[in-house]
Amino acid sequence: MELDGLLQQLRPFLRFLDIFVVAYLLYRIYMLLSRTRAMQLLIGFGFILILDLLARRLHLETLSWIITNVSSYLVFGLIVLLQPELRRLVSEIGRMPIFQWVNAPAVLPLEELTEASISMARQKVGSIIILLREIRPQTIIDNAVRVDALITRELIETIFHKDTPLHDGAMMIENNRIIAASCYLPLSNSRVLKKTHGARHRAAMGISEETDAVIIVTSEETGKITLMCNGQMYTPIKGDDLQTRIQELWNRAKRKKAPEKKEEGATL
Ligand code: ATP
Ligand code: MG
Repeated sequence: MELDGLLQQLRPFLRFLDIFVVAYLLYRIYMLLSRTRAMQLLIGFGFILILDLLARRLHLETLSWIITNVSSYLVFGLIVLLQPELRRLVSEIGRMPIFQWVNAPAVLPLEELTEASISMARQKVGSIIILLREIRPQTIIDNAVRVDALITRELIETIFHKDTPLHDGAMMIENNRIIAASCYLPLSNSRVLKKTHGARHRAAMGISEETDAVIIVTSEETGKITLMCNGQMYTPIKGDDLQTRIQELWNRAKRKKAPEKKEEGATL
């Protein structure tokens, strides 16, 4: 009874909370999907819903019958097609500030990673190193060459050496182990990239859009080091700053989006 009374008193506040939570979730979903193919799918789905409403209103029975029967399959199709985005959303909810106490980021073996990247950049050896956080791109891993090795500067440089069979493609690191090499990544069309960026940078951007990983790229053309995370690009990164900047991105990956990059070298 007392609880009922309390709830009654809190009713206006709970209504506000209800609206706030729904608005916040819709906002997060929009932010998450706005730059992905999911947005087009959702627009298409919204169009079908509007068509359905119209068909019912205007008693277009055949059209209404078709939409009603097809829409349940469409929902399943949508869930399958949006699986990566839905995973990102759930993982993002788990990383909201209120859950931070269970989300302390793992310690990265930064020294070996940064030494290898700086050395490769200096020698103009191209590389992509993906530091996985929570989202695991399973299909990419399944199609790559599986590795299970400690992270050492020597091994990283050996893998990306142009005379080895594994040098083409990206390396993946998870839980302080190298888990895969020669990973073929999805290419991005992001506007953050410039025309001068080729397949390597497009591939690195592709994985940064689809996962919460931090990615280190060295360019064989320019010898520049670039960091990518959450669809943003930070370049060029000075060797001396590399360690701190990776750590900063790692600590906040996906919790807070960096501003849209306009010029070379978005700030962290
Ligand atoms: P760089 O500045 O090093 O020249 P770039 O952005 O100009 O890089 P390219 O010159 O086209 O890109 O780099 C080609 C290399 O990028 C390939 O040899 C391969 O190692 C890598 N690469 C290309 N496509 C992919 C992909 N889809 N996934 C992973 N790596 C890729
Ligand atoms: Mg090139």
